[in-house]
Amino acid sequence: MTSGRRRLLEARTVLSASSDSSVRALNTRRVLRAVMVLPATQVQLARRTGLSQATVSGVVGRLQQEGVVEVDEGEGERGKRVRVAPMRGAAVGIEVGHDRLIVALRRIDNEEVLHQGGNRLVVGRDDRAWVGEAVRLIDDLLESTGMVAADVVSIGLGLPAAVDPRRGRVNQSVTAMKEDLRGNPATWFEEHYPGVPVVVDNEANFAAYGEYTYGVGRDAEVLLFVKASTGIGAGLVIGGTVFRGRHGFAGEVGHLTMDPNGLVCRCGNRGCLETLVSGPRLVEEVRQAYRGHRVDLPMTLAGLIERARAHDPVCVRVLQDAGRNIGLALARVCNIVNPDLVVLGGELGEAGDLVRKHAARDLERNVLTGMLEHEHPVVVRVSELGLLAGPRGALAFALSNEPTAQPSSF
Ligand SMILES: [Zn+2]
Repeated sequence: MTSGRRRLLEARTVLSASSDSSVRALNTRRVLRAVMVLPATQVQLARRTGLSQATVSGVVGRLQQEGVVEVDEGEGERGKRVRVAPMRGAAVGIEVGHDRLIVALRRIDNEEVLHQGGNRLVVGRDDRAWVGEAVRLIDDLLESTGMVAADVVSIGLGLPAAVDPRRGRVNQSVTAMKEDLRGNPATWFEEHYPGVPVVVDNEANFAAYGEYTYGVGRDAEVLLFVKASTGIGAGLVIGGTVFRGRHGFAGEVGHLTMDPNGLVCRCGNRGCLETLVSGPRLVEEVRQAYRGHRVDLPMTLAGLIERARAHDPVCVRVLQDAGRNIGLALARVCNIVNPDLVVLGGELGEAGDLVRKHAARDLERNVLTGMLEHEHPVVVRVSELGLLAGPRGALAFALSNEPTAQPSSF
């Protein structure tokens, strides 16, 4: 490895250089992966990896000698950030939404994230057309960074489904994509990126991890992320670990029963949060309010939000009430998991304070007051990464976790 100064290192080689399972090798890879996800000081690396500062210090010293990592010049020993040396390699994150596809890609040695969105998906067919579309987007991004398929070291794949933490298979999906999600998702990219580990999880779980790693939730102890778009999902990051539950359903707030006599939901139950605040439902409410009037009606949630920003009173009210319903649902979740931070993301998160203020107010009204009166009260913030929270979280999660024969389970 000492010749690394002359020849550009390859991330794939570096990560498999010491593939033995000794504690020392495992710790080395854990620190190296954490540095690849995000340059950090040794104190931060110790917190992120759960290793002692002495262990991190030893690992960083060795990797620095081998030319694999570099340490920034900075004020004081603890202010020095550790980063990977220039090397070939790319990490990929994919988010498959109900009706869109987003791919994020990053060079291992560069913090800049490139991303591309796919066209609206043709869903409900058993041919997984979206896999080919994802490959096209990834290859485009690789080309723009001067890399090729063989440089990809990891792929995180976020799906609109509950993913079994032990088997990595879809346990339930309440979208038109059901047919597309049968089988073993970890194998779908094998033909295009042979040997590259694919880590699969629910897309809201990855979005929560994205905000925890790169966004507004950096280093939150218990983070609850709500993704409100076409559907409503949530992810929990507890002590840096994504909490999935036994069957992968943890955080399915969209199907909390809000009204036992309400509308039937697409999941088959009645009165779920989604029957009140899903994107299509909100658009429908606006259309009903304006029925018979000569008004240009919004067709999408994005269109509705745009009109609310232009002070359309119906659109403003619909978003306010959506915020209130979400706040009430979240208060119930808060009383169970007691987060320090609630992040509002997805398309409704893009509406910012039009929704957040009202969600926060109803959450505060219904949560146990001790959570608010504490010196570190629970707070509600808007997502910092926006629609990239999911793909960036998928990228970070797959890169930071050592691939195993079975997907890592909680
Ligand atoms: Zn439901």
